[in-house]
Amino acid sequence: MSETATPLFDRVAIVGIGLIGSSLARALTHYGVARRVVCADRSPEHCAKAVELGIVERATTDLAEALEGAELVILATPVGAFAEVGEALGPLLRPGMIVTDVGSVKQAVLRDIGPHIPDGVHLIPGHPVAGTEHSGPEAGFATLFQGRWCIVTPPPGANEAAVDKVVELWRRIGSTVELMDANHHDRVLAITSHLPHLIAYTIVGTASDLEDDTKSEVIKFSAGGFRDFTRIAASDPVMWRDVFLNNREAVLEILQRFTEDLTALQRAIRWGEGQQLQDHFTKTRAIRRGIIDAKQA
Ligand code: NAP
Repeated sequence: MSETATPLFDRVAIVGIGLIGSSLARALTHYGVARRVVCADRSPEHCAKAVELGIVERATTDLAEALEGAELVILATPVGAFAEVGEALGPLLRPGMIVTDVGSVKQAVLRDIGPHIPDGVHLIPGHPVAGTEHSGPEAGFATLFQGRWCIVTPPPGANEAAVDKVVELWRRIGSTVELMDANHHDRVLAITSHLPHLIAYTIVGTASDLEDDTKSEVIKFSAGGFRDFTRIAASDPVMWRDVFLNNREAVLEILQRFTEDLTALQRAIRWGEGQQLQDHFTKTRAIRRGIIDAKQA
């Protein structure tokens, strides 16, 4: 159901028309947030697919062409491409434009895009805490951000009107917005998102190293818990490579704490400390209930 409010933007350019970029393209049109949405992507196949699917007015591999007349630019490539995209973007930006992004890490955006933003252009980074394990323009859908959080991380001194517009964009497509400092964002997401992915990649990797006869049983009996990890471990390899390389310190710090906690559980199992295990599992069960109550399950 489309909103009837006046569109926030006449023309929006999305750079990178994969899962998140194409979901945004669909949502901005569906909820009437932008009159026209165009995209740039380095992949001619993704450009052709985006036009064929009817989710953008125009798609091009030429960044300059996509930016013509755009009031808002949304970067939706993997984070590792931001430095290169930022360099190409800089000379094309005009005063008054807003640049935002959807990258899963936020300090790296200020580092890689910040230096290329000319005076009078507003960089307001963001991160929708929503996604799936699929990639590419066909994987997106307009309701991906409904009922999900979007964390917006304006740098100190950011233009208030520009922040308000980015916040309003996310609200209109169904998200609840939280403003946060980029450094804090990266620490929070290290535990809520990055570590769980690392653990899933590890477990599935360990299973795939098992002897062939055991491996077939891993698939057969995967409903015992393994299956849930395989969904997470099927997430985009390039995106996740870039997340770990660009949030290195926070991830290593949280991984150290995780390793210590794992060792404590290992010790409890070894010494038959059942009460300690039970107490721990009771505590974690309550966290699940909290997530369900917060409608984030
Ligand atoms: P995706 O489906 O792989 O889409 C990324 C798109 O960007 C692809 O079409 C890719 O083309 C294109 N691209 C790569 N480098 C480019 C460049 N230098 N110039 C122009 N286009 C380029 O990835 P995604 O899952 O949408 O992730 C996009 C961003 O959203 C990432 O920064 C990620 O951290 C963030 N994010 C993802 C999720 C999630 O669950 N997936 C959730 C929240 C935020 P090729 O295929 O040719 O490389």
